[in-house]
Amino acid sequence: MEQPVAAWNIEGLKQVTDAVETPIMADESVFGPRDAARLLEMHACDLINIKLMKAGGIYYADKINTLAETHGIECMVGCMIESKIGITAASHFAASKRNITRCDFDAPLMFASDPVIGGVRYEQNQLFLPDVPGLGIQGVKFPFIDDEKEVG
Ligand SMILES: [Mg+2]
Repeated sequence: MEQPVAAWNIEGLKQVTDAVETPIMADESVFGPRDAARLLEMHACDLINIKLMKAGGIYYADKINTLAETHGIECMVGCMIESKIGITAASHFAASKRNITRCDFDAPLMFASDPVIGGVRYEQNQLFLPDVPGLGIQGVKFPFIDDEKEVG
């Protein structure tokens, strides 16, 4: 169960975590390492959802994950509504960390068209990282929309 209470309600989050067997994941309650440290010290959640765009990039995402790992708390890497570029960075990050045991990288699948050349590849419920240098982003198609589709 993800973020069952308002982001600010840390006491409530702990109350839910203590009361049920279902693993409780903090999402909006953890933007950065300081939030994570507070929740972890309070034992206020069972899991943390890290998002690169929420944390402010890989540096802070890594700090959150390291703190969580120290407390024996596994992390998921999730995403905002972002393109395959952000998702590819998040995938590389997630794949490099033993403590990241879950991923939620569905945002690019919601796009009307995919402007990104290269990056991660989706195959049913699996996601593959490119086997090329860097993130593996080869380019971006312009315009972002299909020529056939009319723009309102
Ligand atoms: Mg969420």
